[in-house]
Amino acid sequence: MKNSYRILASALMLVSTLSFAQEATTIEKIVKEAQENSQLESLAQELLDGIGPRLVGTPQMKNAHDWAVKNYKSWGIDARNERFGTWRGWERGISHIDMLEPRVQSLRGTQLAWCPSTSKEGITAEVITLPVVSNPEEFKAWLPQAKGKIILISRKEPTGRPNYNWEEFATEASFEKMKTERDSLYEAWKINMKNTGYTSRSIIKVLEDAGAAGLISSNWSKGFGTNKIFSARTKNIPTVSLELEDYTLVYRLAARGQKPVLNITALSQELGEVPTFNTIGEIKGSEKPNEYVVLSAHFDSWDGGTGATDNGTGSLVMMETMRILKKIYPNPKRTIIVGHWGSEEQGLNGSRSFVEDHPEVIANIQAVFNQDNGTGRVVNLSGQGFLHAYEYLGRWLEKVPNSVTKHIETEFPGTPGGGGSDYASFVAAGVPAFNLSSLDWSYRDYTWHTNRDTYDKLIFDDIKNNVVLTAILAYMASEDPKTSSREKSVLPLSKRTGKQMKWPKQRTPNRKGGMN
Ligand SMILES: [Zn+2]
Repeated sequence: MKNSYRILASALMLVSTLSFAQEATTIEKIVKEAQENSQLESLAQELLDGIGPRLVGTPQMKNAHDWAVKNYKSWGIDARNERFGTWRGWERGISHIDMLEPRVQSLRGTQLAWCPSTSKEGITAEVITLPVVSNPEEFKAWLPQAKGKIILISRKEPTGRPNYNWEEFATEASFEKMKTERDSLYEAWKINMKNTGYTSRSIIKVLEDAGAAGLISSNWSKGFGTNKIFSARTKNIPTVSLELEDYTLVYRLAARGQKPVLNITALSQELGEVPTFNTIGEIKGSEKPNEYVVLSAHFDSWDGGTGATDNGTGSLVMMETMRILKKIYPNPKRTIIVGHWGSEEQGLNGSRSFVEDHPEVIANIQAVFNQDNGTGRVVNLSGQGFLHAYEYLGRWLEKVPNSVTKHIETEFPGTPGGGGSDYASFVAAGVPAFNLSSLDWSYRDYTWHTNRDTYDKLIFDDIKNNVVLTAILAYMASEDPKTSSREKSVLPLSKRTGKQMKWPKQRTPNRKGGMN
């Protein structure tokens, strides 16, 4: 008895020592592959420079999906494009905005997404501002003057210098004065818009119906040279965005009666109703093929830049992680899936569709790891309200090198995210899904949805750091002898409403977008 116990005990110890050693070796190999054989730069260049922005419904989005599948197949990973709906198909062409009067200057700007095309010659017209009115009748009386004109529909910013620049150089008094002036300008703009009887959104149709030749907007992102670039809301006339410097130039000329004349050439093509996809890649599990670890990042972007940090970087982290896992850990215990979601930007549509369409996967997910807020190294990780996330995430994180984890602040159990990125689609379905949240790197003001979200902003050392983190978390989650708990914590009182927070509800994706 004693003997056989001893043999059993030493055999068990041997097994655990062996698997412990194997675990350490695998992790070491993952780190080495990520550091010494990184494919990130070449993948980033192909995706961001070669394919470009990935607006839902554009041929570039489809090209990106096909490119991802092709790469996965070249690494021996099964991958496919899974159709989840349709969208208004559209392709951006040339944008060219030139001031012709009172002097010639080419202006920095671009058409908004889904902008109706001009003719090849473009439109040439005088630019005017919206009138200052005290009631809807006055606005109605002014409206005929919109006919044939290009209209400036955004407020004029008093300064193109970001706050941090003022803080560094201005006297305290002049900084305060600027902020007060800016606040009162914003307030006056709001009141005037209200006086027209419309909102900044509803006035667009009114101007178009009144015969405006085109609209110019400018949505400053609060950094030097940065504008947010979203969609056009006009049906037949162009809507272009001008960068703050040029928008305010034209605005001042128009407001001072100097009659600026612009040519706007904004070419684009309507492509009808086209399919939308998620790219799904998969490394089959060897012991528990029907349990899953999911790597998640939306693949689509807005198209003012090339979607480098939103969400080129998250997409690249997941691709590179899959490549490394296939090479170092080709027979995972659980199946590892990567989801490159479509149409996140219009409401998490790709991931919500995946959750709806794959109940068998959703019921058996060990963990989801999502990344979607830029190029920075991961600094925050929340348990998303799962009561025992601390236990398993904690164990997995322990195996990640300290050079990576030392930057990460964890919050357990945390509160469940209701939106903002694709992990929320899974959290709503009760799946342990976690967001690998990045260091800022001026994301909000400089790259997020802006004209400046481009390759040159990438910080490859930080992206590599995130690959190491994601690959080891995926490996540990896959190997874990235990199934991760989905038990939800009792949620705290909401700071906003004072009532107890509720677990976010699963929401229906938009599977037929942009076609009205
Ligand atoms: Zn994003």
